[in-house]
Amino acid sequence: MTARQNTSADLVIIGAGIMGLWAAYHAEKEGIETLLVDRDAPGSGASNGLLGALMAYMPDQWDEKKQFQFEALAALEGQVRLLEEETGLETGYRRSGRVMPLYQERQVRTARLRADEAARNWRLGEHRFEWKVVEEPPEKDWPSRSEGALAYVHETLAAHVAPRGVVAALKTFLSTARHVRIIRKEVAAIDAGAHGIVFSVGERIGFGKAVVSAGVGAFSLLQPLWAPEGLPLGRPVKGQAALLAAACDPALPILFDNGLYVIAHARGRVAVGSTSEDEFDRPFATDGKLEDLIAAARIAVPALRDAPVVERWAGLRPRGVHREPMIGALEDMPDVIALGGGFKTSFGIANRLAGHAIGLVSDNTVSVQDLPDIYNLEIYLRRANKNLG
Ligand SMILES: Cc1cc2nc3c(=O)[nH]c(=O)nc-3n(C[C@H](O)[C@H](O)[C@H](O)COP(=O)(O)OP(=O)(O)OC[C@H]3O[C@@H](n4cnc5c(N)ncnc54)[C@H](O)[C@@H]3O)c2cc1C
Repeated sequence: MTARQNTSADLVIIGAGIMGLWAAYHAEKEGIETLLVDRDAPGSGASNGLLGALMAYMPDQWDEKKQFQFEALAALEGQVRLLEEETGLETGYRRSGRVMPLYQERQVRTARLRADEAARNWRLGEHRFEWKVVEEPPEKDWPSRSEGALAYVHETLAAHVAPRGVVAALKTFLSTARHVRIIRKEVAAIDAGAHGIVFSVGERIGFGKAVVSAGVGAFSLLQPLWAPEGLPLGRPVKGQAALLAAACDPALPILFDNGLYVIAHARGRVAVGSTSEDEFDRPFATDGKLEDLIAAARIAVPALRDAPVVERWAGLRPRGVHREPMIGALEDMPDVIALGGGFKTSFGIANRLAGHAIGLVSDNTVSVQDLPDIYNLEIYLRRANKNLG
């Protein structure tokens, strides 16, 4: 791999959120000389959140995208356990399952049909994850029995991590890395023709390959390289969440109820989220929408009734032209690799997607995954054009 400038790195990774940190982790393991660049402290973008839900798609209408995500979720436990061993830090990973109240007969009927589909599709070797329709919440008062609920789904595949726990472990791993260096600078542009990164302060460095994992920042960095002028590649979607102090068992299932998430984490913390906002004035401020979610959580879970709120947080999710990630080498500039657009599901798939991206960098065919067609950049661009039309 050759870079054409005096100061250069074989690989530059732009953005140190969950995507970029896992990419740097894989690069270190492959022995690739890497510069990981972020304008802020690593992990302080959208990945600095509170929830960390790792949930699969619905088990019916199975396709290659669902299969890919299922395999990524199934593999993640081993990967975070290894990271925990390597760093001595806990990531808060728990395969806790999920409980979802059902309020309409139609929902109950669909949920019952999905049990068969889960038996067929949620299989890992001999192990089958369950999807059951039950009359009562599987754990008393988690949530409390609601008058309106006709039944509940209880599934055993969902898991959760502490987002900041995973980020901290990755940062610790990289702090002793032999091949990865982290610098704090804002990237203004990628000069792909000259294999150069232009920083906002005016300096440049060269790269052999570049991975663009800049979260919402990736859309504007990639736009001039890849998409027709004026064609947006994605947008930020604001989310708000809160952390409450309550001694709830982290093994309790994730509660998902019409957009409300309640997740019990270790050390007496319970996360409540999340809003999903296309329009907002203050991206990082919390407001009444979050208070509504907290109030709903207090009603649903008696243990939270008087629990103090210890943190309120807002962040910007990278929402691509569709809900799927944007990953792969740019067609005309294969030395630039997009790794982004994870929207609401990055924590479950980042390790696997980052492994794919680094496999492309090192031509390591073992790490290059067969990705679902929908992740393909050509399809992504077609979708962007269609959205504009
Ligand atoms: C309220 C909320 C709840 C969520 N809940 C979940 C959940 O339960 N499960 C889940 O899987 N996901 C969840 N998400 C989504 C998840 O947080 C994101 O998908 C994920 O963090 C995106 O990771 P990323 O690495 O792509 O981006 P980020 O974490 O945003 O990282 C991008 C990095 O790039 C840097 N950067 C950007 N532009 C530049 C530039 N020009 N130069 C240098 N550096 C740059 C930023 O500083 C940042 O550090 C949630 C998000 C929100 C907001």
